[in-house]
Amino acid sequence: MMEAEAQLIAQAEKQLGPRAVVTDPKEIEPWVSDWRGRVHGASPAMLAPASTEEVVAIVKLAAEHRVPLVPQGGNTGMAAGATPPADGSAVLLSMRRMNRIRSISAENRLAVAEAGVILATLHDAAHDIGMRFPLTIGSRGSCTIGGLTSTNAGGTQVLKFGMMRSLTAGVEAVLPDGSVHSGLSGLKKDNRGYSLDQLLIGAEGTLGVITAVALRLVPAVASRVVAWTGVESPMKALDLLRFLEARTNAVEGFELVPEDSLQLVLKHIPGTRPPLSGAHPWHALVEATSADGGADVAAELEQLLGAALEQGIIGDAVIAANEAQAEAFWKLRDEISEAERIEGQTLAHDVSVAVADMPRFINEAKAEVERKFPGVIASGFGHLGDGNIHFHVRAASHAAPDWYEREGAAITHMVDDLVTAAGGSISAEHGIGQLKLAEFERLAPPGRIHALQAIKHALDPLGIMNPGKLVP
Ligand SMILES: Cc1cc2nc3c(=O)[nH]c(=O)nc-3n(C[C@H](O)[C@H](O)[C@H](O)COP(=O)(O)OP(=O)(O)OC[C@H]3O[C@@H](n4cnc5c(N)ncnc54)[C@H](O)[C@@H]3O)c2cc1C
Repeated sequence: MMEAEAQLIAQAEKQLGPRAVVTDPKEIEPWVSDWRGRVHGASPAMLAPASTEEVVAIVKLAAEHRVPLVPQGGNTGMAAGATPPADGSAVLLSMRRMNRIRSISAENRLAVAEAGVILATLHDAAHDIGMRFPLTIGSRGSCTIGGLTSTNAGGTQVLKFGMMRSLTAGVEAVLPDGSVHSGLSGLKKDNRGYSLDQLLIGAEGTLGVITAVALRLVPAVASRVVAWTGVESPMKALDLLRFLEARTNAVEGFELVPEDSLQLVLKHIPGTRPPLSGAHPWHALVEATSADGGADVAAELEQLLGAALEQGIIGDAVIAANEAQAEAFWKLRDEISEAERIEGQTLAHDVSVAVADMPRFINEAKAEVERKFPGVIASGFGHLGDGNIHFHVRAASHAAPDWYEREGAAITHMVDDLVTAAGGSISAEHGIGQLKLAEFERLAPPGRIHALQAIKHALDPLGIMNPGKLVP
């Protein structure tokens, strides 16, 4: 351990007590690799503050000793943004002890949650007061409000409610100089120039430590219906979405699933079953909801899917008979990444292009990647209605264990070039972290990179906030 780190750790322990400073390597070990197990880091300690004041003390010590901090929530991020560098030169800052919901109000339609609150906990708290926080993702049992805000996470209800940016009314954060930005008042209108809140959303811990977030709530769902449909192609899936959107406001989730991904889930995830009896090359999961107890969304969706079937937009459809079946349909979608992880080596690309261009992009990118790298399986799944899919490339069955290291960069290069040529983004919702940093630098317009660097330098001149992430 370096002298500066040793001093920081000793002083943190003195100021904050032993609970806030973990130095046992066994306790730190599970938190220094990323969720996919691709990037392995090291840290001499894990600091775990329990209040905003303790975060202030830690940030001041980090500035004094010039020791970088790596903020971390649930460590479920997909870009290794919360993974410290391998040389042990930075200290992990776990926000999980800051896990209080400070206030929640149906009247204000707001919840103020500390950074370490788990998403599922917030869902439950909102439900208890007849409200709902309408962002959900597969990692909801472990990801935190601080991580979701710092990555501007999206998820499966973006179609109707937007990403974290739309659902965040304000942020409280400790800035790199140790000052506290308090933006939790939840003001609907506040035009005092640059929005620090918006700057901190999606900053991946590079501009400060988010300690609490004011979040917008919506009325709880009174009725929800989930359907699974079989379609011929991504184009037909998009046709279905447009068909539904033209006739109802109830659709809030629309997920594309290729047959190949469904088969992987059925193979690896216990208790899963195919929703339809016949085979379909593609599938679309549709979720429709209403906050109005009098609305019969199930009957409406059934009637619309019947019409879509008659018009040849879909090949088949089944509506979940109850909540358990609805959850089972969602599980088939949510477990794709986990099933891939069990299956073997997978290269993940979280990309976006204009919604109307997405079906063509999926088909063309798949064909080009599979032609150039024989044996690999490329497929796109996810948030078709947002123009965002997870374009994943799996190793050929005969691939060597070091396939990822040998071919990964070339494949990603190709996918990112195709996305950029299509006017899209190489990171739709997962952020840049360290995994996408080189590609971001290679492909982003110079003006964008320059602005990022200027903002970073202005707010964090000592470079103590999550260096090596997001900002080239
Ligand atoms: C199964 C699964 C499904 C997923 N599905 C989706 C999806 O549909 N859509 C989507 O957008 N994402 C998805 N994700 C990834 C998603 O980004 C994360 O789950 C979540 O946003 C990260 O939260 P976390 O608390 O785990 O953050 P971490 O992984 O701990 O951190 C993520 C980044 O935020 C920073 N950070 C964390 N907390 C703070 C803080 N308090 N202050 C400042 N910086 C902080 C970290 O330094 C890091 O850069 C999925 C992940 C998994 C594992």
